[in-house]
Amino acid sequence: MGGIVENLEQVKQRIKRAALKVGRQPSEVRLVAVTKNVPVALVEQAIKAGVADIGENRAKEVLEKHSLIGDKVNWHFVGHLQRNKVKSIIGFVDLIQSVDSLRLAGEIDRQAARAGKIQDVLVEVSISGEAGKYGLSPSEVEKLLTDISRQFRHMKVRGLMAMAPLEKDPEEVRPFFSQMKTLFEESRALNLTGVEMEMLSMGMSNDFETAIEEGSTMVRIGTAIFQQIADSL
Ligand SMILES: *Cc1c(COP(=O)(O)O)cnc(C)c1O
Repeated sequence: MGGIVENLEQVKQRIKRAALKVGRQPSEVRLVAVTKNVPVALVEQAIKAGVADIGENRAKEVLEKHSLIGDKVNWHFVGHLQRNKVKSIIGFVDLIQSVDSLRLAGEIDRQAARAGKIQDVLVEVSISGEAGKYGLSPSEVEKLLTDISRQFRHMKVRGLMAMAPLEKDPEEVRPFFSQMKTLFEESRALNLTGVEMEMLSMGMSNDFETAIEEGSTMVRIGTAIFQQIADSL
């Protein structure tokens, strides 16, 4: 069982190998360490070991951790975001990865305007089509991007985020990732004002290599970095 430094090193090696395997530069893939339920002391260790991007999925936890850690890292909001929580996190998160409705986008734009900011966001897509999953269906993406582009001036869409269905075998989710890559390219080709399709956030602990092989530019990894250590505390 390794410590955080070893786990992180292994994850980085795996990212590198997956990228090189398909002729991509490892530097094209950004690592977001997802720290939900991970104690601040361990998050600090990860930061010392080189982590520059932190992902959280609850507003309360992001604010608590931000108050202790501050702005030495980039903060990502990766969970379902309720509209009534938007106001509290604007100004503390660099990238909201989970915009899945025009109403949520509207609230982000409104609160960003009040704070005098332009908020970077990703649009979340549910590629699995599973009931109960958050995120837009692929067919809804173009309309949301177009509406955001026309209506909002205080947010910038920087790309797409997706969660694949949980499968034991990452090969089974490969088609979902390749479908996302196609959707990402199609969205980029729309050339909308205020939309810069440059980040494709997909891949978690159990499937990130497959996601990278299919074009992910950002992986969100929790368990592979923190789990065994958190379990042993
Ligand atoms: C928890 C979580 C992750 C990380 O998942 P692991 O399997 O622990 O790597 C990534 N993305 C989102 C949205 C999450 O909630």
